[in-house]
Formats: sequence, structure tokens, C-alpha cells
Amino acid sequence: MEYATSAHSCCCGCGEEVVAPFTPTDWKMTFDGETISLRPSIGNWTLTCRSHYVIDCGKVIEAGPWSDEQVEAERRRDRTAKARFYGQSPKSEPPVQFTPPQATPGFWRRVWHLVSGRS
Ligand SMILES: [Zn+2]
Repeated sequence: MEYATSAHSCCCGCGEEVVAPFTPTDWKMTFDGETISLRPSIGNWTLTCRSHYVIDCGKVIEAGPWSDEQVEAERRRDRTAKARFYGQSPKSEPPVQFTPPQATPGFWRRVWHLVSGRS
């Protein structure tokens, strides 16, 4: 199993669906034959409930809400981990996605000049 995703109802009971992808830089699920554990903790800062918990041996352990600083720190850690992981193994590079950035038209004109050699 290389890449997979888990989905479960938010453990706080709000009913929102929580999606946790299993990748080398995201969550890891361990199954000891009886119970599952999920690492690291699930931080639902995108949900209105902003719940945060750890699933350990099939049990949900409340981990307390996250502050904005913690959310920002986690986002940075996630970006760094992904950059490091995908940078080191070019064979498993993620597909290049064309996402139009929030660039100004001037940016694309500069790119065009660069590519076409015109000015
Ligand atoms: Zn919730």
C-alpha cells in the first residue's frame, strides 16, 4: 500500500468527515492485530469545531484545541517535510499540477518574454 486515505467522522461528534491521507509525510496507521493507532494527531483546524485528538490503540485521546500559531507551525512543518521528501526521491515526484497562481498579468508577461525571447 503506497498511498491511501482514511476518512472518519470527526471524533468530537460534530458529524464532519475528516480525511487523513496516508503518505510518507502525512499520517501513518498502525494495526497491532486488534486496534489501530494513527500518528501524528488529527488536527481539524479546517472544521468549525477545530477538534484535535490522537487515535491510540483504537481509543480517541483529546489533545486540546490548537492555537493559530500551532496551526501555522504545523502547516510549515508539513510543507518542509513534503519538500524534503519529494526533493530527495525524484522517482516518486508528485504529478506536476498546473495551478494558476495568484500572479499578476505582468508576471505572466515576464514569463512569456523569458520563454519566447521577445521583449
Ligand atoms: Zn468535530
